Amino acid sequence: MNVILLGPPGCGKGTQAARLKEKYGLIPLSTGDMLRAAVAAGTDVGMKAKAIMEAGHLVPDDMVVGVIADRIGERDVQKAGFVLDGFPRTVAQAKSLDEMMKRMGWTLDHIIELKVDEKALFDRIDKRARDARAAGGEVRADDNAETLKKRIVVYREQTQPILPYYREQGRLVSVDGMADIDDVSRQLEAIVGRP
Ligand code: ADP
Repeated sequence: MNVILLGPPGCGKGTQAARLKEKYGLIPLSTGDMLRAAVAAGTDVGMKAKAIMEAGHLVPDDMVVGVIADRIGERDVQKAGFVLDGFPRTVAQAKSLDEMMKRMGWTLDHIIELKVDEKALFDRIDKRARDARAAGGEVRADDNAETLKKRIVVYREQTQPILPYYREQGRLVSVDGMADIDDVSRQLEAIVGRP
């Protein structure tokens, strides 16, 4: 089985992806995490992505499509299924994903939008930064009010058009991402089915 979680930065995709891993054994594939790992490891992809991510822009489609294609082809993902968080982020990426799936003879099972008020996003990202600091961890370089504003504009302009792309094909389901975390999980389980 596979699931795609869609929604703006701070909507709770990462949190719910982790829960889908716990309940269904799906492997979370977060392009943000993968790119941050590439930056930390100083790979070619990481070196190209670093400044782009810090500015709140999107890294080029071919780069993320390559990263995802490599990972989806691996044995563990093929066996356990996956939950995508942060990909696709443009209509071009969504189309590449459709092609990838077709080549592998897979279909996308559940495409789910987490609907949230934009106003709440600033508070959530601010809380994520404060929690990271309190835990003695590192705050993400792009988790500050200025970059978040940019990320939300980028979301609106480049990522939101994915919603009608999937909706018109009758493939999109929406859940209320403003509900508390457990409630959102229950909404997802109602869509995905019993573990
Ligand atoms: P969030 O969902 O909180 O915005 P992510 O961790 O998903 O954060 O992504 C962080 C950054 O990584 C993005 O702002 C962007 O620069 C880059 N990125 C992640 N996924 C993609 C993608 N699919 N396409 C292009 N850029 C991406």
